[in-house]
Amino acid sequence: MATNDRVISPEVLGFDPDALAQRYAAERDKRIRADAEAQFVQLSHDSPFTNKYLEEDPYCKPLDRAPLKDQREVIVIGGGWVGMLTAARLVEAGIADVRIVESGGDFGGTWYWNRYPGAQCDIESYSYLPLLEETGYVPKLRFSYASEIYEHAQRIGRHFDLYKDAVFQTWVTELRWLEDESMWLVATNRGDEMRARHVCLGTGPANRPRLPGIPGVEKFKGHSFHTCRWDYDYTGGGPDGGLTGLADKTVAIIGTGATAVQCVPALGEGAKQLYVFQRTPSSVDVRNNAETDPEWAKNLKPGWQKERQKKFGEAFLGGPIDPAFADDGWTRLTRNVTELASHTEGKVPGLVQIADFKTMEEIRGLVDDTVQDPEIAEKLKAYYNQFCKRPTFNDFYLDTFNRPNVELVDVSATQGVEAITENGIIANGKEYAVDCIVYASGFEITSSYERRLGIPIFGAGGKSIYEHWQEGMRTMHGLMVSGFPNLFLCGGGFVFQLGANYAHGIDVQAGHVAYTISELGKRGVKAANVSVTAEEHWIADQLETKGGGFVLGGSPDTCTPGYYNQEGTTQRYRNVRRETYSKGVGAYMKLLRQWRDDGELEGLELN
Ligand code: NDP
Repeated sequence: MATNDRVISPEVLGFDPDALAQRYAAERDKRIRADAEAQFVQLSHDSPFTNKYLEEDPYCKPLDRAPLKDQREVIVIGGGWVGMLTAARLVEAGIADVRIVESGGDFGGTWYWNRYPGAQCDIESYSYLPLLEETGYVPKLRFSYASEIYEHAQRIGRHFDLYKDAVFQTWVTELRWLEDESMWLVATNRGDEMRARHVCLGTGPANRPRLPGIPGVEKFKGHSFHTCRWDYDYTGGGPDGGLTGLADKTVAIIGTGATAVQCVPALGEGAKQLYVFQRTPSSVDVRNNAETDPEWAKNLKPGWQKERQKKFGEAFLGGPIDPAFADDGWTRLTRNVTELASHTEGKVPGLVQIADFKTMEEIRGLVDDTVQDPEIAEKLKAYYNQFCKRPTFNDFYLDTFNRPNVELVDVSATQGVEAITENGIIANGKEYAVDCIVYASGFEITSSYERRLGIPIFGAGGKSIYEHWQEGMRTMHGLMVSGFPNLFLCGGGFVFQLGANYAHGIDVQAGHVAYTISELGKRGVKAANVSVTAEEHWIADQLETKGGGFVLGGSPDTCTPGYYNQEGTTQRYRNVRRETYSKGVGAYMKLLRQWRDDGELEGLELN
């Protein structure tokens, strides 16, 4: 392909950008629902129906213990990657009095709860699994399966001695700042009243599952579960598949996001009949998994993981592509931008958008290559920009629709499943009788802060943090909040947007939090509060100015709805943008490093 023109013609491209833009807009309009985020049911500890999908833990025996009324230097809420990395970096910084409070029965967080068949990391494991060098571990596969990742969480727990003070099967019910004592009071569902000088909120973005609020959802008399509470007692088999318990069962799965793409192949293989209810298709790129080369692993040099994470971030965000990521699905767009730019002279207007069309045309082409029935293939094609929704990667999902026992039920015309009855699901005016419904309906990732965090938090003067955030999240560095001393919001939506590799972003924050807490201790500071000016400065100068690089998540004005854009709600989308740092993880690291190097703890009022 070569052109001297500043506009690349459809003949050269092999597709018509204008026609695609119109198709994308039509697909988006078809899916916009007035009830937006309200279409989902909020799971609650108080509701017998929804609590079944939240607090019940199919993976461990219930624990009985007396309430704790004690004091710690640091309490970390959450024992997934965010909490573990924060605790590990605190231990490295010499702060050993750290207690992790975790709702699951062990460490792992999302990798504790998500044990559905086929669960796997979508970022290459060498960049995604935290603390590989520190723990001396190299993953067995380029993309690890969930059980290896879960085991790695336990390895981290042992390596940093995090088990000794941790409490499991415990849900935090309230955080309250005790001004007289300069301490946080952490209350839990077990009657605990733990005090802590510092609290790190490490609940992560996918800690609370959600159900679609389909009329009749509570009426179903068959079996049902959410993908993050997979019931192997019912399905048989395990994370590697072999769901023999489903051999005589008709199963429905609602949702076709990243989770469903990974577990549908095992359901298709195990169930007598599988109905996949799809409202919006995911983009499904190739997986290309491979075993780790032992020679390569043996010759890794100190500092290799941080270097690799940095290179992954650069390649994903439009920078140079290291050969390690030359065939990684996350760099397909960058590769297309580079390729198109190399064939044109001068700056082509809208080049990134044209590269996105090309990327999605390639991904839609994979559907045609795999799915035999052209009508089904057409329904499985995603018509939106690649990062309007979370891209997915799987080598078995599309092929599942060639099985005679698997039916794709397209519910886009009615903006979702119409109703649930005692016997099954109503879609397109027809009742599908089923034995089991699997909800692959996602998590409270970007819904309102209160709903997402699920913990009442009261700071100085008894003020609720959600009141403080009424018009969008207010922080300094995405980490500390004015009026909420010694509270660190590790992970969360902010890091989710730094780049595709969440584990890298949270480690950047973990190191920074460890430095700050250790420095406050050395200086004998009891309470550190972000000043109002510092919070304002961060919002105005950093978040509301334009950053470079690609930004994850699509605007509700142009993208099909989903959790990336608060189901298409423009105002909420703008508010949530305050949690994002669009310049990417490299710039964020530099900014935090500069703050630490200055050594002034700038923006903090110290007491
Ligand atoms: P998502 O929120 O991405 O998907 C929910 C699905 O449910 C969507 O397909 C949605 O359709 C569908 N849905 C919701 N309501 C209805 C309805 N009323 N009728 C029919 N369908 C409905 O959840 P996932 O659990 O798939 O993924 C959540 C996130 O977790 C991912 O985006 C990713 O960040 C993370 N994840 C990471 C993995 C990894 O790294 N390996 C693996 C799995 C998940 P619609 O799109 O139309 O809204």
